[in-house]
Amino acid sequence: MNRPITGELQALDRAHHLHPFTDFKALGEEGSRIVTHAEGVYIHDSEGNRILDGMAGLWCVNLGYGREELVEAATAQLRELPYYNNFFKTTHPPAVRLAEKLCQLAPEHVNRVFFTGSGSEANDTVLRMVRRYWALKGRPDKHIVIARENAYHGSTVAGMSLGGMAPMHGQGGPCVPGIEHVRQPYWFGEGRDQSPEAFGRACAQAIEDKILTLGEDNVAAFIAEPVQGAGGAIIPPESYWPAVKAVLAKYDILLVIDEVICGFGRLGEWFGSQHYGLEPDLMPIAKGLSSGYLPIGGVLVGDRVATTLIDDGGEFFHGFTYSGHPACAAVALKNLELMEAENIVERVRDDLGPYLASRWSELAEHPIVGEARSLGLVGALELVADQASGARFDKSLGAGSLCRDLCFANGLVMRSVGDTMIISPPLVITREQIDELVRLARQALDETARRLKNRTFERTPA
Ligand SMILES: *Cc1c(COP(=O)(O)O)cnc(C)c1O
Repeated sequence: MNRPITGELQALDRAHHLHPFTDFKALGEEGSRIVTHAEGVYIHDSEGNRILDGMAGLWCVNLGYGREELVEAATAQLRELPYYNNFFKTTHPPAVRLAEKLCQLAPEHVNRVFFTGSGSEANDTVLRMVRRYWALKGRPDKHIVIARENAYHGSTVAGMSLGGMAPMHGQGGPCVPGIEHVRQPYWFGEGRDQSPEAFGRACAQAIEDKILTLGEDNVAAFIAEPVQGAGGAIIPPESYWPAVKAVLAKYDILLVIDEVICGFGRLGEWFGSQHYGLEPDLMPIAKGLSSGYLPIGGVLVGDRVATTLIDDGGEFFHGFTYSGHPACAAVALKNLELMEAENIVERVRDDLGPYLASRWSELAEHPIVGEARSLGLVGALELVADQASGARFDKSLGAGSLCRDLCFANGLVMRSVGDTMIISPPLVITREQIDELVRLARQALDETARRLKNRTFERTPA
C-alpha cells in the first residue's frame, strides 16, 4: 500500500495516457483507479482497496493472478530465447510445442494453428484466410462474410468491421467492404414477443434470408461468438445453434467461431464450439489462451481450409512480427498444462458452473432484475425499472453504469453494457468466492434501486 502515489499517477495519466474505449476528457476529470497488484481472484488499488475481480481482467485471467508457474515459464523462456520469429523457414520450441498442444485440445478436424499477437489480429487473419480459401477454390466471388449486430471481434479495422458495434462503425468507417450483419439472438433485448425457442429459430432464419438475398455464390463465411461477450453475455436460445448449423450446411459456407472469450474453459468445455456441438472451419483464439499473462492469439484452422491453403496456396503473404512469440507461447503452453493438471475445464462444467447458476439465478428475484442468466462462468443481469412488464430504466438514468460504479466502490468488479450487468470471473474462483460475488452484487443492486428511487444520486467515480 503506497497511497501518496495515487494523485501523482493520476495527474501523469491525465497528461499523457489515452486509454482504450474511454471518453478521454471525462476520465481526465474523474481520475483513473490505479490497480497496483493482485492475487488469486482479487485486485488491489493504490488506495488500499481489495476488489473481487468478477471480470477476470478483460475475460482473460482464467487461472487467476499470482501464478508463479506462469511467471517462471516466462522468465525461463526470456533467458533462453527472448525473441525469434517464425518467418523465413524458422521456428523455435515453444511455438511448436504450443501448436501441438492446441491441436490436441481442439476438435478432431482441427490440426493447424496460425499465431497472432491478439484476438483482433486473429480476426484479421480469419478474413484473409476465408477470402484466400475461396479464391484458391476458383470462387473469388464468394467473399462476403456474414456477421452479427452487436458482436465483438476486436478493434483493428477488420475486427471492428466484422464486429457489429454501431458506435465503433460510426467512428472508424468506412468499414471493410464485403461484411454484412444479421440480427443477434438476444432474446431478452429483442425477442420477448416470442418464446425463446421461436426467437432462436427466427434469428437463424435471418441468416438464411441474408444468404438468399446476397446469393450463396457470394457468401464466404458466417462468423459468431458462441455466447456474445462484450455485447452483454448473450446466451442464445437452445434452438439457435442447431438451426444455424442446418442453414450453413445447406449452402456451402464456412463457419468461423470466435473463441476468444468462450475458449479455454469459460463455458465448461475447452472450446465454446464443443458446448454447442459446432464444427467450425476457423476458430480465432486469444485472451484465456495465456490467462492474460502475456499477449498471444491465433487462429485454429480446420482441415478443410488448411489443406487448401497448404496444398494449393503457395506463399501466404500474411504474418506478424510477434506471431508465436517465444515467451508468450511458453506462458500459453504452461497455462494449458496447468488447466489440464488442475481439471479446470471439468470443474467449471461439473461444479463451479452449476453452482454459479444456482446462486446467480437467486438474483432474478431482485426488484430491479428482469433476467439473471449464466452458462459456465459467464453471467448477466438485465436491469429493469419494472419487473412485471420488464420495462427498462430511462436511458438518461445510466442505471448500468451506476450499478457498476457502486460495485467497484463496494469491492466487486462487475461490468455494465448499457443496463446489462455482466460477470466472467477467473475459472479458479471457489464456491465461497462465488457466494461473496453474489452477496456483493446483491448489495450493489439494493443500493442502485435505492438511488434510482430517490433519483438523487451523484455519480461515484469509476
Ligand atoms: C476481446 C475479443 C476480441 C479481440 O481481442 P484483442 O486481444 O482485444 O484484440 C475478439 N473477439 C472477441 C470475442 C473478444 O472478446
